[in-house]
Order: sequence, then C-alpha cells, then structure tokens
Amino acid sequence: MLLAGDVGGTKTLLGLFQRAPARPAPIARRAYPTTQFASFTEILHAFEHDVRPPSGIDAVVVGVAGPVVHQRAALTNIAWDISATEITAWCGAGRALLLNDLEAMANSVDVLTPDELLVLQEGLPNPEGNAVVIAAGTGLGEAYLHRVNGRLRPVPSEGGHADFAPRTDREISLMRMLRDTYGRVDVERILCGPGLLNIHRFTHRDEPCGPVLNAAPGGEPAAISQAALTGACARCVETLDIFVSAYGSEAGNLGMRGVATAGVFVGGGIAPKILPLLQRGDFMDAFRSKPPMDEMLARMPVRVILNAEAGLLGAAVYANEM
Ligand SMILES: [Zn+2]
Repeated sequence: MLLAGDVGGTKTLLGLFQRAPARPAPIARRAYPTTQFASFTEILHAFEHDVRPPSGIDAVVVGVAGPVVHQRAALTNIAWDISATEITAWCGAGRALLLNDLEAMANSVDVLTPDELLVLQEGLPNPEGNAVVIAAGTGLGEAYLHRVNGRLRPVPSEGGHADFAPRTDREISLMRMLRDTYGRVDVERILCGPGLLNIHRFTHRDEPCGPVLNAAPGGEPAAISQAALTGACARCVETLDIFVSAYGSEAGNLGMRGVATAGVFVGGGIAPKILPLLQRGDFMDAFRSKPPMDEMLARMPVRVILNAEAGLLGAAVYANEM
C-alpha cells in the first residue's frame, strides 16, 4: 500500500494507492484546506480518521509547494513546515520522501493517458529528448525531465521565481507597476491566481469591475477568467490576453532551457479552466516567437495536463518505484 500527498498553499490532497505496474491504482483520496491545520501531522490524523487506512503502508511520497532541502520544506504563506521525519513518526513507514510538488507532478507524465492530455501543438516528439512541466495555479511551478539512460528523470526547480522578462511596451508598463509595488518582479507575480489579480489591477486601474466585485472571497481569479471567456468585461478580456501570452512565452523559455524536444506539459489548476483561450493561438504564438530558436520550439510537442490530480498521481508513481 502506498500513501501519496500533494501539499499546496490552498489545498492538500492525500491518497491511498495499491501498487501496480507503472500506474498505481487509487483506493481512497481526501482533500483538506491546508491553512486550517496547524501542522501536516494534523492533516495525516484527519486522513487516518476519515479513511481508516489499513496497516502496511510501505512507502509515502509527498509533493510540497516549495523547495525541499534535507527532506524538509517550508511552504510560502503557511506557518508550519513539513519533514519526512514527522511522516515516518506518524505511519512508521520504512520509507517516506518529500518532493517538490512540480517534481512530483513530473513523475505522472509518463503514465498519463491520451484522454488526460490536450494537444496544443502536435510537434515532432523526440523519444530521446527531455521534457519539462510548467504549472500555474496558486503559484507558478516549473520542473525539468532529463532523459537519463532512456528514462525521463524529474528534476525540481524554482524557476517560477526567476525574473519576469517583458516583451512588449504593455508588458513593460505592467512590470513597472509591479516593480513599484513589490520591488522585484518574478514570473510568479504574473503567472498564477494572484498574478491574474495583479494583471487585473493593471488593466482596470481605478475602474470598477462587476464580475470581481460580485466574486466570493478567493474566487476573484476564477471570476476574471470567466468574465474573459464570456466577454462580460473588456478589461478582463485584456487581462487574460496578457496572461495567456505571458504563459506561452514562459513555457517557451522553459522549453528552451530544458531542450524539451520530447514535450512541454502545461499542468496546474488554471489551464484546464481557460482551455478555449489557450487553444486560440496567442499561447502558442508566444511560445514559438523566439528566434533564433523558433524552429526548435515549433517541433516541441505541447500538451495541457487535464488530470487535476496529476501531482498526487506523480507522487504515487514515485512511491510505486520505491
Ligand atoms: Zn473586469
């Protein structure tokens, strides 16, 4: 029996899986609001109470939204940190492992089925090449999949905190506004849910926006996306135009950095909610428009991960191999 986890700033998923060749089979899963618990051990106790897992969990892998150093990780915006030691103390498992959340998600790439992926660019897949994963959600995550001895091996990164590189006068104005607010503008200031709010502030300035005024607390990014999809607010349409183009450009940057000739995978919670906007062309135009590398980028397969729990699945895939 395997226990997999995906700890995010908003939501924590835990799942029990049965070992199986390549793709472990899910038995039970639960979601918990991360901020309402005082420690990860408390979430484990809640899961134990809710699911009553059988004894004999022999591997635990948990993906965490943050850098993992010496099997310990601190989450941005969460008061507690998480360690492999506390997981072992809870379940007595011989093997407990923490991974960066995008590294965990990257482990799912090899076992995803065609119906769990949406093709943005067919490309010319190179079976000997590397791959990358980029995922905008509560934050922006990026991971590499390096080809080693024929297999893709996930490598974590904190690429979401690299500097934002504006390409247009409009993006330069946006960057200036954000620099005035934050001092430094990393890509995550733009490419995540709170990033959508930043772009929204830029496009609306002091103008009221009905869809956001009427949104439930925390639901603003979804309200902006919805207003853009329906055309309910022209400035929300521009907000998403900026977001989608910057997302495609950053996916192209990551594809170049990783020489991802085997594939670029777009994960995270936002992409599946704005698929029509991703398919319209601006995303892939920004992805490819990087001479002198435009021809290589045009050959990279680009797909959206539709499985909303790819991070949890990837952690289970890793545990399955332990
Ligand atoms: Zn608006």
